Amino acid sequence: MEILEYGFMQRALLASLMVGLVAPAVGVFLVQRRLSLLGDGLGHVALTGVGIGVLTSTAPVGAALVAAVLGAVLIELVRARGRTSGDVALAVLFYGGIAGGVVLLSLAPRGQATNLEAYLFGAITTTSNADLAVFAVITVAVLAVVGLLGARLYAVSDDEEYARAVGLPVLGLNVVLAALVACTVVLSMRVVGLLLISALMIVPSAVAQLLARSFRQALFLACALGLVVSVSGTAASYYTGTPSGGTIVLIAIALFLTVSAGVALRDATARRRHRRRGEVHAAHPHVHGDGCGHPPVRHGDHVDYDHDGHLHAPHLTGAGVHYDEHGTTRPPVEPAAARETP
Ligand SMILES: [Zn+2]
Ligand SMILES: [Zn+2]
Ligand SMILES: [Zn+2]
Ligand SMILES: [Zn+2]
Repeated sequence: MEILEYGFMQRALLASLMVGLVAPAVGVFLVQRRLSLLGDGLGHVALTGVGIGVLTSTAPVGAALVAAVLGAVLIELVRARGRTSGDVALAVLFYGGIAGGVVLLSLAPRGQATNLEAYLFGAITTTSNADLAVFAVITVAVLAVVGLLGARLYAVSDDEEYARAVGLPVLGLNVVLAALVACTVVLSMRVVGLLLISALMIVPSAVAQLLARSFRQALFLACALGLVVSVSGTAASYYTGTPSGGTIVLIAIALFLTVSAGVALRDATARRRHRRRGEVHAAHPHVHGDGCGHPPVRHGDHVDYDHDGHLHAPHLTGAGVHYDEHGTTRPPVEPAAARETP
């Protein structure tokens, strides 16, 4: 593998691996909380931190981390105070963040790593060993917090009123989540860039929610998808010479569109099959029941009626009683295979 021979690509792939794992692990909570754009806003705020870091010749990653976490805490405090004023306050903070970053970076002396584009859209080849060390600490810390507080964070993200009613520290948990988002934003700075990080937090989570049956499943699936998308996007960007951030996000969106189309097709097929099953009974309209003349046959948790060699299962829908075809006279051995889709 030629791609692994270069030190900068090894570091890039390691960074993309961490980002791909962490971003969706935090993103699923944001999707649940309908706050998908928080990561975007904190990316704006982090840019001011980058500017300060570059100007004062301290590590931009560390300064960005401090700025983003402070911004995150501030946002949660503002949000906790009220709705209407909160909205404007957020806009001021976000645009103040990006404006401050742009101005500060323009003031930096020449010859420094002040490439604005690199921070906005990612520049994996600039990942240093020191960055990797910081990223590894962030990765472990974020995953540990998600592992420890995941259930509580989910409760708050899912229904804040209910969480408050059962005595969970809602504000505290919201601040923790916002801080996790801030850490993820900074972690993703090199690979995806500050403007696109939100996409890597949100899109794999959205795909996972289409497929998963529980939040836990969605969490693990989102991380797996994020990992694959992030690493493959980074590798692809090496061969195509395209920016890693944009490549990763386009792959994620392509995945989202494909899965959405697949799910829509599956639902339509299930609906069509259901309708066809009903039509078999519609050919001889009549309500099956005790003493209707058709022998009842136990079938799992319900009773079918043997109707001229077909097993017809009545169930109520909005439009009245609907009959599903549940096979021919010998009931199927495995009820699961015959169970209709709701
Ligand atoms: Zn029938
Ligand atoms: Zn009958
Ligand atoms: Zn039916
Ligand atoms: Zn049945």
